Amino acid sequence: MQLIIFGPPGVGKGTQANLLSQNFNIVHVSTGDILRDAVERGTELGLKAKAIMESGGLVPSDIMAGIVDEVLHSEKLSKGFILDGYPRTVNQAKTLDVILETLPDTKIQIISLTAQDSIIIDRLSHRRLCINCNKIISLYSIAKENECPECGSKETLTKRKDDEPEVIQQRLDVYKEKTFPVLAYYENKTDVISVDAAKEIKEVTQSILEKLK
Ligand code: AMP
Repeated sequence: MQLIIFGPPGVGKGTQANLLSQNFNIVHVSTGDILRDAVERGTELGLKAKAIMESGGLVPSDIMAGIVDEVLHSEKLSKGFILDGYPRTVNQAKTLDVILETLPDTKIQIISLTAQDSIIIDRLSHRRLCINCNKIISLYSIAKENECPECGSKETLTKRKDDEPEVIQQRLDVYKEKTFPVLAYYENKTDVISVDAAKEIKEVTQSILEKLK
Protein backbone atom coordinates (compact mmCIF):
# COMPACT_ATOMS: atom_id res chain seq x y z
CA MET A 1 0.00 0.00 0.00
CA GLN A 2 1.32 3.42 -0.97
CA LEU A 3 -0.32 6.51 0.45
CA ILE A 4 0.28 10.23 0.29
CA ILE A 5 -1.25 12.28 3.10
CA PHE A 6 -1.89 15.85 2.12
CA GLY A 7 -3.12 18.95 3.94
CA PRO A 8 -2.15 22.19 5.66
CA PRO A 9 0.36 22.32 8.52
CA GLY A 10 -1.25 21.32 11.79
CA VAL A 11 -4.20 19.50 10.23
CA GLY A 12 -3.00 16.20 11.74
CA LYS A 13 -1.06 14.58 8.89
CA GLY A 14 1.68 13.30 11.18
CA THR A 15 -0.75 11.89 13.73
CA GLN A 16 -2.90 10.14 11.13
CA ALA A 17 0.14 8.93 9.17
CA ASN A 18 1.49 7.33 12.34
CA LEU A 19 -1.79 5.55 13.04
CA LEU A 20 -2.18 4.40 9.44
CA SER A 21 1.41 3.15 9.31
CA GLN A 22 0.71 0.99 12.38
CA ASN A 23 -2.63 -0.17 11.01
CA PHE A 24 -1.23 -1.29 7.65
CA ASN A 25 2.31 -2.09 8.80
CA ILE A 26 3.80 0.35 6.33
CA VAL A 27 6.56 2.92 6.83
CA HIS A 28 5.70 6.52 7.75
CA VAL A 29 7.97 8.79 5.72
CA SER A 30 7.82 12.37 7.03
CA THR A 31 10.06 14.81 5.18
CA GLY A 32 9.71 17.22 8.12
CA ASP A 33 10.97 14.53 10.53
CA ILE A 34 13.89 13.71 8.21
CA LEU A 35 14.86 17.38 8.08
CA ARG A 36 14.44 17.92 11.86
CA ASP A 37 16.64 14.90 12.49
CA ALA A 38 19.31 16.32 10.15
CA VAL A 39 19.10 19.71 11.92
CA GLU A 40 19.49 18.03 15.31
CA ARG A 41 22.48 16.01 14.17
CA GLY A 42 24.04 19.08 12.54
CA THR A 43 24.61 17.34 9.20
CA GLU A 44 25.28 19.24 5.98
CA LEU A 45 21.59 18.90 5.10
CA GLY A 46 20.61 20.11 8.57
CA LEU A 47 22.83 23.18 8.31
CA LYS A 48 21.21 24.08 4.98
CA ALA A 49 17.66 23.47 6.20
CA LYS A 50 17.70 24.96 9.74
CA ALA A 51 17.12 28.67 9.04
CA ILE A 52 14.62 27.96 6.25
CA MET A 53 12.55 25.70 8.48
CA GLU A 54 12.63 28.12 11.40
CA SER A 55 11.29 30.90 9.19
CA GLY A 56 8.48 28.71 7.81
CA GLY A 57 9.86 28.59 4.26
CA LEU A 58 10.40 25.62 1.96
CA VAL A 59 13.70 23.76 1.65
CA PRO A 60 14.86 23.86 -2.02
CA SER A 61 13.17 21.26 -4.19
CA ASP A 62 16.40 19.74 -5.56
CA ILE A 63 17.46 18.88 -2.00
CA MET A 64 14.01 17.42 -1.25
CA ALA A 65 14.02 15.40 -4.48
CA GLY A 66 17.31 13.72 -3.48
CA ILE A 67 15.96 12.84 -0.03
CA VAL A 68 12.66 11.43 -1.32
CA ASP A 69 14.29 9.51 -4.16
CA GLU A 70 16.68 7.83 -1.73
CA VAL A 71 14.11 7.03 0.94
CA LEU A 72 11.47 5.64 -1.44
CA HIS A 73 14.04 3.23 -2.88
CA SER A 74 14.93 1.90 0.54
CA GLU A 75 14.40 -1.84 1.10
CA LYS A 76 12.26 -1.37 4.22
CA LEU A 77 9.57 0.38 2.18
CA SER A 78 8.89 -2.68 0.04
CA LYS A 79 5.62 -3.41 1.94
CA GLY A 80 4.46 0.16 1.42
CA PHE A 81 4.68 3.65 2.78
CA ILE A 82 2.74 6.71 3.76
CA LEU A 83 4.33 9.92 2.57
CA ASP A 84 3.75 12.96 4.80
CA GLY A 85 5.03 16.45 3.92
CA TYR A 86 5.85 15.74 0.29
CA PRO A 87 4.99 16.91 -2.33
CA ARG A 88 4.60 20.54 -1.23
CA THR A 89 4.65 22.21 -4.64
CA VAL A 90 3.33 21.21 -8.07
CA ASN A 91 6.95 20.85 -9.23
CA GLN A 92 7.62 18.43 -6.36
CA ALA A 93 4.48 16.48 -7.39
CA LYS A 94 5.86 16.18 -10.93
CA THR A 95 9.25 15.07 -9.56
CA LEU A 96 7.48 12.49 -7.42
CA ASP A 97 5.69 11.13 -10.52
CA VAL A 98 9.10 10.54 -12.10
CA ILE A 99 10.49 8.88 -8.94
CA LEU A 100 7.41 6.63 -8.64
CA GLU A 101 7.86 5.43 -12.21
CA THR A 102 11.18 3.92 -11.13
CA LEU A 103 9.51 1.85 -8.38
CA PRO A 104 7.86 -1.50 -9.09
CA ASP A 105 4.03 -1.74 -8.76
CA THR A 106 3.08 1.77 -7.78
CA LYS A 107 -0.54 2.37 -6.95
CA ILE A 108 -0.70 5.56 -4.98
CA GLN A 109 -3.78 6.66 -3.06
CA ILE A 110 -4.02 10.28 -1.98
CA ILE A 111 -5.65 11.34 1.30
CA SER A 112 -6.48 15.02 1.72
CA LEU A 113 -7.16 16.27 5.26
CA THR A 114 -9.09 19.51 5.66
CA ALA A 115 -9.88 21.86 8.53
CA GLN A 116 -10.60 25.58 8.97
CA ASP A 117 -7.67 27.96 9.62
CA SER A 118 -8.94 28.71 13.15
CA ILE A 119 -8.70 25.01 14.10
CA ILE A 120 -5.25 24.68 12.54
CA ILE A 121 -3.90 27.75 14.32
CA ASP A 122 -5.30 26.50 17.63
CA ARG A 123 -3.72 23.05 17.15
CA LEU A 124 -0.33 24.42 16.14
CA SER A 125 -0.26 26.82 19.08
CA HIS A 126 -0.99 23.94 21.48
CA ARG A 127 1.52 21.55 19.94
CA ARG A 128 4.80 20.58 21.61
CA LEU A 129 7.81 18.45 20.68
CA CYS A 130 9.16 16.10 23.34
CA ILE A 131 12.95 16.36 23.17
CA ASN A 132 13.24 12.96 24.84
CA CYS A 133 11.07 10.76 22.58
CA ASN A 134 10.80 13.16 19.60
CA LYS A 135 7.01 12.78 19.46
CA ILE A 136 4.76 15.69 18.64
CA ILE A 137 2.06 15.95 21.28
CA SER A 138 -0.88 18.22 21.94
CA LEU A 139 -1.15 20.14 25.20
CA TYR A 140 -4.83 19.09 25.11
CA SER A 141 -3.73 15.46 25.59
CA ILE A 142 -1.58 16.08 28.67
CA ALA A 143 -2.79 14.63 31.97
CA LYS A 144 0.10 15.89 34.16
CA GLU A 145 1.61 19.31 33.68
CA ASN A 146 5.05 19.29 31.97
CA GLU A 147 4.98 15.51 31.52
CA CYS A 148 5.16 13.91 28.10
CA PRO A 149 2.14 11.58 27.67
CA GLU A 150 4.16 9.38 25.27
CA CYS A 151 7.36 8.67 27.23
CA GLY A 152 6.51 10.01 30.70
CA SER A 153 9.56 12.24 30.90
CA LYS A 154 9.24 15.57 32.70
CA GLU A 155 10.19 19.06 31.51
CA THR A 156 11.02 17.81 28.01
CA LEU A 157 8.17 19.44 26.09
CA THR A 158 9.35 22.27 23.85
CA LYS A 159 7.70 24.42 21.25
CA ARG A 160 8.95 23.91 17.70
CA LYS A 161 10.43 27.22 16.47
CA ASP A 162 8.06 27.04 13.51
CA ASP A 163 5.05 26.81 15.84
CA GLU A 164 5.59 30.40 17.06
CA PRO A 165 2.61 32.59 16.03
CA GLU A 166 4.34 34.63 13.30
CA VAL A 167 5.88 31.53 11.74
CA ILE A 168 2.51 29.70 11.83
CA GLN A 169 1.03 32.50 9.71
CA GLN A 170 3.97 32.31 7.31
CA ARG A 171 3.55 28.53 6.96
CA LEU A 172 -0.16 28.92 6.25
CA ASP A 173 0.62 31.55 3.60
CA VAL A 174 3.22 29.26 1.98
CA TYR A 175 0.69 26.42 2.09
CA LYS A 176 -2.00 28.47 0.35
CA GLU A 177 0.31 29.82 -2.32
CA LYS A 178 2.56 26.84 -3.09
CA THR A 179 1.07 23.65 -1.64
CA PHE A 180 -2.70 23.99 -2.06
CA PRO A 181 -2.40 23.86 -5.91
CA VAL A 182 -0.95 20.33 -5.54
CA LEU A 183 -4.46 19.15 -4.63
CA ALA A 184 -5.87 20.28 -8.00
CA TYR A 185 -2.90 18.61 -9.71
CA TYR A 186 -3.87 15.26 -8.16
CA GLU A 187 -7.63 15.78 -8.53
CA ASN A 188 -7.09 16.11 -12.28
CA LYS A 189 -5.25 12.78 -12.37
CA THR A 190 -6.90 10.50 -9.86
CA ASP A 191 -9.48 10.08 -7.07
CA VAL A 192 -8.53 11.96 -3.95
CA ILE A 193 -9.92 10.77 -0.60
CA SER A 194 -11.03 13.91 1.21
CA VAL A 195 -11.57 13.73 4.96
CA ASP A 196 -12.79 16.36 7.42
CA ALA A 197 -9.94 16.46 9.95
CA ALA A 198 -11.65 18.87 12.35
CA LYS A 199 -13.09 15.86 14.17
CA GLU A 200 -11.52 13.76 16.93
CA ILE A 201 -8.38 11.78 16.01
CA LYS A 202 -10.16 8.39 16.13
CA GLU A 203 -13.06 9.59 14.01
CA VAL A 204 -10.68 10.97 11.38
CA THR A 205 -8.78 7.65 11.24
CA GLN A 206 -12.09 5.78 10.93
CA SER A 207 -13.23 7.98 8.03
CA ILE A 208 -9.92 7.45 6.23
CA LEU A 209 -10.09 3.67 6.71
CA GLU A 210 -13.68 3.56 5.41
CA LYS A 211 -12.75 5.53 2.30
CA LEU A 212 -9.52 3.67 1.45
CA LYS A 213 -9.91 0.93 -1.13
P1 AMP B 1 6.46 19.52 8.53
O1 AMP B 1 6.95 18.76 9.71
O2 AMP B 1 5.94 18.65 7.42
O3 AMP B 1 5.49 20.62 8.89
O4 AMP B 1 7.75 20.26 7.90
C1 AMP B 1 8.50 21.19 8.64
C2 AMP B 1 9.31 22.06 7.71
O5 AMP B 1 10.23 21.27 6.98
C3 AMP B 1 8.51 22.81 6.66
O6 AMP B 1 7.92 24.01 7.14
C4 AMP B 1 9.60 23.07 5.60
O7 AMP B 1 10.46 24.12 6.01
C5 AMP B 1 10.40 21.80 5.65
N1 AMP B 1 9.86 20.78 4.68
C6 AMP B 1 9.27 19.59 4.97
N2 AMP B 1 8.90 18.96 3.85
C7 AMP B 1 9.26 19.77 2.82
C8 AMP B 1 9.13 19.71 1.40
N3 AMP B 1 8.51 18.68 0.80
N4 AMP B 1 9.62 20.73 0.66
C9 AMP B 1 10.22 21.79 1.23
N5 AMP B 1 10.37 21.93 2.57
C10 AMP B 1 9.90 20.94 3.36
